[in-house]
Amino acid sequence: MSETNTALVWLRNDLRIADNPALLAACQSADRVVAIYVHETGPDIRPTTGAARWWLHESLKAIGASLASLGIALEIHEGDAAAALGRAVKDHSATGVHWNRRYAQGERATDTRIKTELRESGIEAHSYSGNLLAEPWTIKTGQERPYSVFTPFWKSLRNMAIERPLAAPTARRPLSPDTGVDKGYETPAWAEKLGQYWEIGEAAAQRVLSDFLDQKIEHYAGERDFPAKDATSGLSPHLRFGEISARQIWHAARMRSEIEPHLAENIEKFLSELAWRDFSYHQLYHRDDIARISMQENYADMPWREARPDLVRWQRGRTGFPIVDAGMRQLWETGYMHNRVRMLVASLLTKNLLIDWRQGEAWFWDCLVDADSANNPASWQWVAGSGLDAAPYFRIFNPVIQGERFDASGDYVRRWVPELAALPDRFIHCPFAAPMPVLRAAGVVLGKTYPEPITDLKQSRQRALEAYGQTKE
Ligand SMILES: Cc1cc2nc3c(=O)[nH]c(=O)nc-3n(C[C@H](O)[C@H](O)[C@H](O)COP(=O)(O)OP(=O)(O)OC[C@H]3O[C@@H](n4cnc5c(N)ncnc54)[C@H](O)[C@@H]3O)c2cc1C
Repeated sequence: MSETNTALVWLRNDLRIADNPALLAACQSADRVVAIYVHETGPDIRPTTGAARWWLHESLKAIGASLASLGIALEIHEGDAAAALGRAVKDHSATGVHWNRRYAQGERATDTRIKTELRESGIEAHSYSGNLLAEPWTIKTGQERPYSVFTPFWKSLRNMAIERPLAAPTARRPLSPDTGVDKGYETPAWAEKLGQYWEIGEAAAQRVLSDFLDQKIEHYAGERDFPAKDATSGLSPHLRFGEISARQIWHAARMRSEIEPHLAENIEKFLSELAWRDFSYHQLYHRDDIARISMQENYADMPWREARPDLVRWQRGRTGFPIVDAGMRQLWETGYMHNRVRMLVASLLTKNLLIDWRQGEAWFWDCLVDADSANNPASWQWVAGSGLDAAPYFRIFNPVIQGERFDASGDYVRRWVPELAALPDRFIHCPFAAPMPVLRAAGVVLGKTYPEPITDLKQSRQRALEAYGQTKE
């Protein structure tokens, strides 16, 4: 290895030091490593916006400091990735570029083009498996086809030997931790509030995982559907940006299961949820753009309503269905929404309100800190019924019944919809059914302090069944 041998590691959704194959390979191949992050623009890449962009910025700061302590500088670029990498290769006289794979069609096309261009100009270019439990093309049906149903996909994945996480590279000469990450990013006023809910970066992600395994996994299967309980891992934004890898989570959970066999059932449930993420990426990899195109073709003719006022009421958490409004306000305030409630709000939008799932997906994309290019569209299509292994079109969640079942004492609603807090439990999920004296005693004036329901659940259910029924013909 000569003194001037420099490799670049191109970071994308893998903002961690440990179990980062591209980073490790770059470190093993050269005596000097420079990390590059590109805020990519262009038609092939879905830009990270809103709350996730805020997270990304904080996460880059965190990994910038960790890299500096290893002796690796982090450079932030903007624009076309090929041009940015080309410039960086020249500036540093780099001999190789390393990255971990990504899976959307536009991303793959970009990466393939860059790999070819680099190799043609005599630069080594290598890609690695770092973001999923298993690469999407390695999981196949008996007929060598991609899976379209989760359960057999999960059985297949469960039987695979998931690669063990890699160690972090060893430190070189530390740099000053000035990473230049602040350049070009101003935290919008609305994003400042998010900071109070989250700790960002690789060390935080590892703490979240240990706390989950120490304190919450024991009740995961039984409590994960109850939004007032803090029963799930909270790992999704960390996974979204690769501050922790799915393989690290998998092996940590399995090791815990071996040490404490009484946790095995809950751990199995958790691993199967983690596998849904791989299943979403399986769909992203094998299908056309899943954020734009319904996976079931007959949904192309769905008679969606153009109903902007309804969409805005839904976005603002003013539908008049308390559990839906609680979820939409939790999303706006924290950048996160509980999974059960995500299903309920998506069902109200796409089924009762008959608004195109793409409009809900886009709102989530902007508001979620875990906005994920596979999980978000795949989950929206699951709820809307247009996905491959989707909820059947006739499953239309009733937000009142669901609220009574999963938030029986109304704690979740009271937290996020405080204007209803004084209602008795019996009416907390259906203020519109409460007698006038009950409303008055709770200080609720429907249509004034809290909205009337945006739709009649029975009639809109019927309308949805008819519209969805048409697509089946
Ligand atoms: C309409 C809708 C939109 C969604 N959008 C996203 C999104 O943009 N990003 C995202 O990460 N998840 C999304 N989900 C899936 C799920 O709601 C979140 O992953 C979960 O709530 C994150 O919380 P957690 O990390 O505490 O989950 P845990 O229950 O602790 O699960 C651990 C991990 O497993 C994965 N996982 C769990 N449930 C699912 C699921 N149903 N589908 C796919 N992966 C899952 C996630 O990576 C999660 O972090 C969406 C679900 C719905 C219904």
